[in-house]
Amino acid sequence: MVINLTDKIQTGLKREVRIALEACSKAADLFGFKIYLVGGIVRDLFLEKEIFDVDVIIEGNAIDFCHKMADKKLCKIIQVQEELKTAKVLFGEKIEIDFASTRQEFYPRRGHLPVVARIGCTLEEDVYRRDFTINSLAVALNKENYGNVIDYTGGLADLKNKVLKILHDNSFNEDPSRIIRGLKFACRFNLHRDEHTKELQEKYQNTQLHKDISWSRMKSEIKQTFSLNSARVFDMFLANGVEKLFYAEKPDVKGLEIKTLVDKHQPDYPWLVYLGCVLKDPEIIEAFCFTRQEQKIFDDRDALLNGNLSMLNSNYDIYKFFQKKSFEAILIYYLLSKRKEPLIYIEKLSQIRVELTGNDLKEMGIPEGREIGMMLDEILKKKLSGSIVNRDDEINFVKNQTK
Ligand code: ATP
Ligand code: MG
Repeated sequence: MVINLTDKIQTGLKREVRIALEACSKAADLFGFKIYLVGGIVRDLFLEKEIFDVDVIIEGNAIDFCHKMADKKLCKIIQVQEELKTAKVLFGEKIEIDFASTRQEFYPRRGHLPVVARIGCTLEEDVYRRDFTINSLAVALNKENYGNVIDYTGGLADLKNKVLKILHDNSFNEDPSRIIRGLKFACRFNLHRDEHTKELQEKYQNTQLHKDISWSRMKSEIKQTFSLNSARVFDMFLANGVEKLFYAEKPDVKGLEIKTLVDKHQPDYPWLVYLGCVLKDPEIIEAFCFTRQEQKIFDDRDALLNGNLSMLNSNYDIYKFFQKKSFEAILIYYLLSKRKEPLIYIEKLSQIRVELTGNDLKEMGIPEGREIGMMLDEILKKKLSGSIVNRDDEINFVKNQTK
């Protein structure tokens, strides 16, 4: 039975998007192209989720099609990518739609980026390069079959039954980042892996793992996945043994512990708090090519984990131990060590400031140079211990010291 999504297109897409797609449909009929919505948008229309990206696929050359539409003043082409024959197109003032050409890909080196084998293949040939059955659905936009779901892989039944299924046995070998994508989709849409997919994932993680893969793709997927800030994602990550992809041991941390901490303290890089509880292998950390700020989190975490804790005898010691460390690293350290000092620092000590400045001290007669720094440090010590509290206390303290 043919399933038709015309109603869901009417209710699920913004009016301006619908108008743009109607123009595409008419143009495709006029110029003789087969045109479809494909991938995530079809899944999300079916599930009645909010639509963010509109991905259109042309059976043939999408750039040719977009040029023909632009010649008719239906749209403006913003960007073309000749190699993949894709185009980004603007309708009206603000509706951007991505057009892809059907293509087949192959993986010359397993785990690395694919190479295009053929552009302009059939839609059926195109969908088999994709990750999961639920992401390989298309909806026809030509007049004769408008709204019909084209389902070559059984994706519709899997969507209904909430099943996540890969398309062929070599899928994770070709691209292990699909394991992370699977985790992300499983959590977002409440899916469970089909048995065979589960077995193949375990086989990959237990026997076919290798380090020579595209880590940039892995990084991008793990960033999206942990940015969901979901306790369940993290618990599933560990329950499914996904840490093995990163040559890591299972940490003794629960997703809810991380989420509670992230929600309370709002770090700049929540995803790295999750990842930082897992990622340890220096080779993999290097392969991630972190930005300087991201890398500092891992360096600081390791410095904290290797620090000498027997030295932490006072609030001042705790303050100095954590003072220049990135906030995420301190959160990770707390989660992994379960010690109380990181929380004492974050919740109490890190807010304590010396109010007097070097200039204030100079005016009070402290000679310039090392002595000013030492006096500021003495004031800090007193404030951290709680024996002095406000600016007046600081002034009195300095006066007493210099009497
Ligand atoms: P999201 O809502 O997260 O954007 P999406 O399904 O649209 O979900 P994208 O990453 O935008 O995901 O990719 C668009 C489509 O490209 C997917 O639906 C899938 O068909 C295909 N795809 C993306 N990444 C891969 C991959 N690593 N392997 C195979 N196919 C992929
Ligand atoms: Mg998308």
